[in-house]
Amino acid sequence: MESLSFYVLLLIAIIAGWLLGRLGPSKSTRTKASSSDLFQDYFVGLNYLLNDEPDEAIDTFIKALEINSETIETHLALGALLRRRGKVDKAINVHQALLARPNLERDFSNSVRLQLALNYIAAGLLDRAERLLQEVLDDGAEAKWDALRQLITIYQTEKEWENAIACSSQLLKNARFRKDPALLGGAAHYCCELAEQYLHNNQVSQARAEIKRAFTFERKSIRAMLLLADIEQRGGNYKVAIKELLRVRSVKREFISQLLEPLASCHESLGSRSDFEKLLRTMVLEDSSTEAALMLAKMISARSGNAEAIGLLREHLEHSPSQGALIELLGLQLHGVDEHVASSLESLLNLVKAQAQGSSEHSCHHCGFETKSFFWMCPSCKQWDKIRPINELPNRQASVASK
Ligand SMILES: [Zn+2]
Repeated sequence: MESLSFYVLLLIAIIAGWLLGRLGPSKSTRTKASSSDLFQDYFVGLNYLLNDEPDEAIDTFIKALEINSETIETHLALGALLRRRGKVDKAINVHQALLARPNLERDFSNSVRLQLALNYIAAGLLDRAERLLQEVLDDGAEAKWDALRQLITIYQTEKEWENAIACSSQLLKNARFRKDPALLGGAAHYCCELAEQYLHNNQVSQARAEIKRAFTFERKSIRAMLLLADIEQRGGNYKVAIKELLRVRSVKREFISQLLEPLASCHESLGSRSDFEKLLRTMVLEDSSTEAALMLAKMISARSGNAEAIGLLREHLEHSPSQGALIELLGLQLHGVDEHVASSLESLLNLVKAQAQGSSEHSCHHCGFETKSFFWMCPSCKQWDKIRPINELPNRQASVASK
């Protein structure tokens, strides 16, 4: 059993016991038999809990505790616990029963709506969740801030970016959330999603407007900078595109791998190959970029043969070991060696290639999800900007970690 759920259950069991102690035997309307039933149920529940059968325990506590003004909070918590344990249908029943009670206090009915909406989201019933959250929002009470957060989750899932931006803007009016980096970053991404849709339909001015809006949420939005560079490149404004791409490098160096292709293409169009080669050298020296080293090695070997490229890769591998650079180096060394050495180098190369093929290139810094491709939003935990490249070989990571 997860320890948190266990402690929550234990706490609920204590509260339930206390409530039964207060309400059970002293009520004059309650018969002796029904209060003894109540206590029996309670101890059965406790027994389930001690026997590591939490789901049965929750069911029994819910059955034992009659819903009234003193037990209503406990029912709310038990429903939430059911959802967290994956029993979404049961959680919906518990919270629906609470909401159906007449004369619920305003704050409490909003709390039940929020919990019920979470159940609906967990069950994939997003329309129902949205309707409930809209009711909380219309009520205008303090619970509206939680409702807005949940609505953002729904609109993000449904890719209703304009609605997600509207909810984020409302939340940002609250001083508590005004500087929330996740909220600001998310809103910038919604604008970028819209910008990408416009770009897909060749509506460049609308795309530019969305990029401008993204910058109002996050001044250093990498995605917005990349999109802007893309627009400039498409429009033939190569120097402006290069400037924008280099701005990305100055903000987040880990994005260098995404800058190389557009930078190469812009420099190619401008006929400034040597400037690009100089830039790549800077990226290798200052940023220890393996992708820059690989591109530079290819350019050098095409221009002046393999020896210089091999030297560059060897030097780079000494301080920044990576599978990519190793594969490239072995590939270059295959040429010009005798047949016997070539054959053993080739088997070594195939081994490293096989290992590289199976390994992930990116990982999520929030949930640890690993993936070959890059995503702005982690497909697993749905957080923005948490996917980062994994550059180092395992021994490098271990030596860095042990320092
Ligand atoms: Zn994640």
